[in-house]
Amino acid sequence: MSGLLELVREDLRDFAGYKSARSELLQGDIWLNANESAWANPGDAKGSSRRYPDPQPTALRTALAGLYACEESQLLIGRGSDEAIDLLVRALCNPGRDAVLVTPPVFGMYAVCARLQDAPLIEVPLWDGADGLVADMDAIADTAINSNAKLVFLCSPSNPAGSAIPLADIERLAKRIEGKALLVVDEAYGEFSDLPSATTLLARQPNIAVLRTLSKAHALAAARIGVVIADAALIDVLRRCQAPYPVPTPCAELALAGLSPAALVETRQRIALIRSERARLEAALAGMAEVRRVYPSQGNYLLVRFRDAESAFRSLLAAGVVVRDQRAAPQLGDALRITVGSPVQNDRVIQALRKVEVAA
Ligand code: PMP
Repeated sequence: MSGLLELVREDLRDFAGYKSARSELLQGDIWLNANESAWANPGDAKGSSRRYPDPQPTALRTALAGLYACEESQLLIGRGSDEAIDLLVRALCNPGRDAVLVTPPVFGMYAVCARLQDAPLIEVPLWDGADGLVADMDAIADTAINSNAKLVFLCSPSNPAGSAIPLADIERLAKRIEGKALLVVDEAYGEFSDLPSATTLLARQPNIAVLRTLSKAHALAAARIGVVIADAALIDVLRRCQAPYPVPTPCAELALAGLSPAALVETRQRIALIRSERARLEAALAGMAEVRRVYPSQGNYLLVRFRDAESAFRSLLAAGVVVRDQRAAPQLGDALRITVGSPVQNDRVIQALRKVEVAA
């Protein structure tokens, strides 16, 4: 057994999972093995949803492996990266024993999945310094080594802080916790970042798993397509722990269309636009007296501290602009997170916040 599989719950290492009718490699032209309908639903114009889907649709898997520059065997498709987070916690953490380490303020699903699994949660807060709210890599390594951490979640670019972690730091951390914990690098916003993906470290450092999603830069949040990219042996284990048919056919078709060469050209143009709008919005906000701090961001959002976050939030709402109130998050009692929208939408944000300035 590879060292990596020793991180998987012992009771799940050779767990076979559910054997669906679809998973048996039988041949025939009349399929009566899965209690499906012999006719398409009248509302199913393409007739593509009558049968249970391929658990890992082949063409989509090939397209995603190409997109993320990994082997198909290293990739598992799930219902958003949310499902990947849940699968990792369930497959690796023995309830009541193995802990999940997170770096608050950070995306909340790591803690939610830990709670559902009854996995203790260990927090190593982001450090608020001149470069922004950044991960304290030495503290993360020391804490992981001296605790029961089985999973360490890094979010890079971090939601909501916006900071990204250099690959050399990720590799060093993975090395330090090798044999002890899996390092999960959530790159949900990776397309908006200047830094390369941690998938490039996998060949040297197998205790890394990378999360990617079509929900953000690829504008397919409703399709619920996310992936985990990791060592093929770990991917096999996760697949056996996953629901029998995790990728609905209409979603797979939509995702495949969204990854066509023509669609990718447009997606790349939009990413470039969001990056330039991010800089424009950041500069406009930084110039406002009401704004205490705009954190540099590698994502498609800006974390902003206000002198009076309540007035800013209300003024935005009055202008019909809904942003994410971060005031309940640790260290963020005066902060809002604003997604970078289209140029017209960003103008509305700027106008609404200038009104707060005038009123103040
Ligand atoms: N990771 C991060 C950091 C996120 O911000 C989000 C969504 N807000 C997700 C994962 C989940 O994305 P999805 O399930 O849509 O792939």
